[in-house]
Amino acid sequence: MATTQTLPQVDQSHKTVLEPIATPTRLLFGPGPSNADPKVLQALARSPIGHLDPLYLELMGEVQELLRYTWQTDNRFTLPMSGTGSAAMEATLTNTVEPGDTVLVAVNGYFGNRLADMAGRYRANVQLIEKPWGEAFSLAELEAALIEHRPAILALVHAETSTGVCQPMDGVGDLCHKHDCLLLLDTVTSLGAVPVFLDQWKVDLSYSCSQKGLSCPPGLGPFTMGPRAEEKLSARSGKVPNWYLDVSLLNQYWGSDRVYHHTAPVNMNFGMREALRLLADEGLENAWDRHRCNAEALWAGLESLGLELHVPEALRLPTLTTVCIPNGVDGNAFRLHLLNEHGIEIGGGLGSLAGKIWRIGLMGYNSTPKNVELLLNLFESELP
Ligand code: PLP
Repeated sequence: MATTQTLPQVDQSHKTVLEPIATPTRLLFGPGPSNADPKVLQALARSPIGHLDPLYLELMGEVQELLRYTWQTDNRFTLPMSGTGSAAMEATLTNTVEPGDTVLVAVNGYFGNRLADMAGRYRANVQLIEKPWGEAFSLAELEAALIEHRPAILALVHAETSTGVCQPMDGVGDLCHKHDCLLLLDTVTSLGAVPVFLDQWKVDLSYSCSQKGLSCPPGLGPFTMGPRAEEKLSARSGKVPNWYLDVSLLNQYWGSDRVYHHTAPVNMNFGMREALRLLADEGLENAWDRHRCNAEALWAGLESLGLELHVPEALRLPTLTTVCIPNGVDGNAFRLHLLNEHGIEIGGGLGSLAGKIWRIGLMGYNSTPKNVELLLNLFESELP
């Protein structure tokens, strides 16, 4: 016999009556996210399928293979973490750092500091090598720090989104081999847009994001780990301290066993597959050239308007340009004016560059000559 249960009255105090979502059209020329390719948005809008559906399992393999292409790596542990770039950043550290390991972090911007903070939370002995925000590290500086600190891991940011600097990578991997440490590289603002050759550069661990060079919305954090990092993971004396990001567990789902780990964000991976498919269709070399050409046109145009760029040309990132705010201009007011009057987002400075620079991103789908022209016209007509 069914029992009737008396339920308490539903509390209505938080119930809000809303209209269906309506978002404004914005052009995102900030540090990310940048606009997603409409084809990627269409893929995201498809009806979900089961995360153990044979068709989905096939799609996972396709995503992994195209991530290997995009990173130029053969690493078998290559997969999109469910989470943003920071989740994948955390995955590189949680899987390899054991308490007491020395992690040497090269800090020349905001994201180097984040790496150092995270490594400390895994009880690493964190050592820093620092440079002013806007400069890169030389091989001699890196080698001196490797000799001084003898780290288990050297962590570097390839594309520092807070400064617009691209760290030169020639010879860094050889140094890490010579001094017997793993090389961890943040490729959040370079993957798919700036040349990255993980295996040739002898990078052992890397991570990225979906929302910049890959033209997808935020939500996935591509992750990759090479054989030397796998060895360090296998030799751990204790469990990986983060269950969600433990690659050995994840690999039971992403590898051949196909064992449930967590419910995959299937639609995000539909989008990722489409984004990577489009990138492969264009060809990496062409995508890199496109970013370089459009960035060069932007740099030349801004300089011809009398604006000064924060980073010397040889170190400039094609994806993210840092512009010095001219004396007497209220940088924040100008950004808000572009957003409110023109629907255009550019970024402000972070940390020691707050109030001093604007950050202009031309990433993935947004890196086009038309967008360069639009930005230059606005800087010409709207700057006070
Ligand atoms: N590393 C760099 C260089 C970044 O620019 C960002 C974000 O912009 C991150 C890491 C963190 O990624 P997310 O914000 O997707 O977590």
